[in-house]
Amino acid sequence: MDIVSNRLKRIQPSQTLAISAKAREMKANGQDIISLSAGEPDFDTPENIKQAGIKAIQSGQTKYTDVGGSLELRQAIVKRLNEDYKITYDPEEIMVSCGGKQVIFNAMMASLNQGDEVIIPSPCWVSYPDIVTLAGGKSVIVPCNAKKSHFKLQPNQLEAAITSKTKWFILNSPCNPTGVAYSRSELRALCDVLLRHEHVWILADDIYSKLVYDGFTSSTIVAVEPLLKSRTVTMNGVSKAYAMTGWRIGYAAAPKHFIKAMTKLQGQSTTNPCSISQMAASEAFTASQQSIVTMIKTYEERRDFVCQQLNEIPGLTCIKPEGAFYLFPSMKGFLNKTSKNGTHIKTDQDFVAALLEEEGVAAVHGAAFMMEGYFRISYATSTLLLEEACKRIRQFCMNFS
Ligand code: GLU
Repeated sequence: MDIVSNRLKRIQPSQTLAISAKAREMKANGQDIISLSAGEPDFDTPENIKQAGIKAIQSGQTKYTDVGGSLELRQAIVKRLNEDYKITYDPEEIMVSCGGKQVIFNAMMASLNQGDEVIIPSPCWVSYPDIVTLAGGKSVIVPCNAKKSHFKLQPNQLEAAITSKTKWFILNSPCNPTGVAYSRSELRALCDVLLRHEHVWILADDIYSKLVYDGFTSSTIVAVEPLLKSRTVTMNGVSKAYAMTGWRIGYAAAPKHFIKAMTKLQGQSTTNPCSISQMAASEAFTASQQSIVTMIKTYEERRDFVCQQLNEIPGLTCIKPEGAFYLFPSMKGFLNKTSKNGTHIKTDQDFVAALLEEEGVAAVHGAAFMMEGYFRISYATSTLLLEEACKRIRQFCMNFS
């Protein structure tokens, strides 16, 4: 008898995690691999945050906390949201989970009935559609145009995608995998559509909100349109901004009744996120935010460098995005071409597989993000490695000319 459920068979393994694991394995086998596949800061967690974690262990903060996170951490989050966006929440409207991914999982599992629709602009993060499927919902993928709108969803597209079955609209700004971010006025235009459809809830995935460049200011749905607060889940966490991916702390700010529903689910699955990580996250949210400023400066320089290098390679084109630490170049110039080595490229997946095989550079194909003809590069890697990676990508691409 097959032990695997039909439910699980309907979803795919996370491609970002799978490709990163493959790159790690190749490296461990002694191969010279540069991994640009994982969305993970190369910076170390700032020292004050690490110390808070150590102190948590030493002072015995090693027991269960409230399922949805300690009051201390929830208060720290309330303060952070207020400082960042001037939005006001009560600690009872906050819930802490094991990373942003669990927040999204909780939100979908706690709300979707069979066949409910979730609007997801694409390209999108690999896990949204699978989480929706797992929860019994139906993803409505809305492809966004690269040239016309820099991969940003237009209000008329949102309007056209909404039906009576729509339960959620997921908006990720800055976006993984493109790095593009919505300005306040672009959010305003989307809010105007959402105001007309009272049955639609909004999941604002703001996990990259701190990582924006060229003076761009991140905003969020609830700050732009307070009337939407009663049906918005604002998601954020410590993973990206504070280089804390392994600590697994994400949070939701949402109406109290929905926090209660998600807490019920979390109480029957993981219980509270790690108590030690919670203490470290409190420190991250309340202490000086200077470490982020330093990281942003480095990311911005890397973005400029890699984007320019990619655009100089014949056959590749790349938008320069406002935020995150990803670039999402088009590789359409290589489709149906055969290299001097005899490598034939039929899809973006062929392209990234050959790039890894021939040059040892790991990236993730666009189709994994629901947009074929592109690939994602994470530039959260040392400048030296990025220089070498760009050289290798150029070498790889030149084999096709
Ligand atoms: N969000 C990151 C990425 O896209 C981490 C891996 C994952 O959970 O997908 O690479």
